[in-house]
Amino acid sequence: MSARPQPGGMSRRRLLPRDPYSPRRIAIHVTLFVLTILTTLWVGAMYNAQSLAAIEEPGLLDLVVAGVPYSATLMSILLCHEMGHFVAGRIHRVRLSLPYFIPLPFALGTLGALIAMPPLESRKKLLDVGAAGPIAGLVVSTIMMGVGLQLSEVSTLEPGVVVLQEGQSLYYMAVKLLVLGPMPQGHDVFLHPVAWASWIGFLVTMLNLIPLGQLDGGHVAYAVLGQRQNRYSGYMHVGLVALGVCVSGFYGIGAMIARLPWQEVATQAQTGLAWFVWAGLLYAFKRMGRVYHPPAPDPAPLGTARIAVGVLSCASQAVLVAFSKFMMIFDKSVQLLKLLADNTRFKIICMLAERPHFVHEIVKNTGVSSSAVSQQLRLLKTAGLVKDQRFGQSVQYELTDEHVFQILDAVFDHVKDSER
Ligand SMILES: [Zn+2]
Repeated sequence: MSARPQPGGMSRRRLLPRDPYSPRRIAIHVTLFVLTILTTLWVGAMYNAQSLAAIEEPGLLDLVVAGVPYSATLMSILLCHEMGHFVAGRIHRVRLSLPYFIPLPFALGTLGALIAMPPLESRKKLLDVGAAGPIAGLVVSTIMMGVGLQLSEVSTLEPGVVVLQEGQSLYYMAVKLLVLGPMPQGHDVFLHPVAWASWIGFLVTMLNLIPLGQLDGGHVAYAVLGQRQNRYSGYMHVGLVALGVCVSGFYGIGAMIARLPWQEVATQAQTGLAWFVWAGLLYAFKRMGRVYHPPAPDPAPLGTARIAVGVLSCASQAVLVAFSKFMMIFDKSVQLLKLLADNTRFKIICMLAERPHFVHEIVKNTGVSSSAVSQQLRLLKTAGLVKDQRFGQSVQYELTDEHVFQILDAVFDHVKDSER
């Protein structure tokens, strides 16, 4: 990210002082950098819980060691991104600030980094400085993704294991296919911390390339389109909010149609939240600078090569967008157990474990109204515990597979044993 504060504006003096390389300033940058190393180490150690679980009483050193692969990868991706801006700035003799890293003690461990840029007259300089960051960041993320995927394990999905389902962008899928080849049915890659951090590198690049305001993509688009870009920024901004509404609506309404409990509907509807947060942040930036992007009045043409770079970097965003959501298999397991913890539903499951039943038989045996039985059967079907088959007018239900039988057996055996 590169923020471009207004001349004389409050944020400019704070982010880009007259002497951005004074010892006091450097101390601020170093402090933020070190803090971000610490927060990413912490988050990395938590992500790498598997390696910590093998140690009886993990000490501070174990935590650090577990956090290093994630932290080192993510920090080097962010650093290369920012140094891309910085080096391009140096070549053009633009006095940029050093990168400000933003530590975050939870979630990803950081909100990324930004560099402050003085107002630039020249569109050429604007394009070079704006595009150099995401290009450098993407190159490093791609290399690290190759390494990370090699370190990752490909195996079948097992319930009860804590994993994060990563969003699949076209670019990520292409890299995965190139490194690991086609994935066998029912298998998935369990991302090594290096691959997970690289995935975040892709995400950060994608977010920065949005041609809006003073994001990297905004600088690049402004360099190519000039003053018009402020109008397009406005459209993009509305588009971001609309995207949030669509994503939240898609998952929220999907959960409602499946008649999932309200808490689950609310959880699903939060999927689009990130887009609202991002739109809100950009709104705050616009308020500070009064316009989406300050003018770059130099009329010198960009030249074909630079226009191509500009168009390509904005277009590359399309292959980096990852729409699928995060879902923990752990969460899913908890949901499944919660679903079973109901008198009627558990009765139905036990009944179906003996033999397949028709709906009217289930109604008779449970003594519950047929509409209530249908509702429960729908829930069990959505959770993948039962499946149905139609015979003329009547519908017969049975358990989906061997796993459901095993769950019942295990529960009964455990209870019997603990009674003894
Ligand atoms: Zn950037």
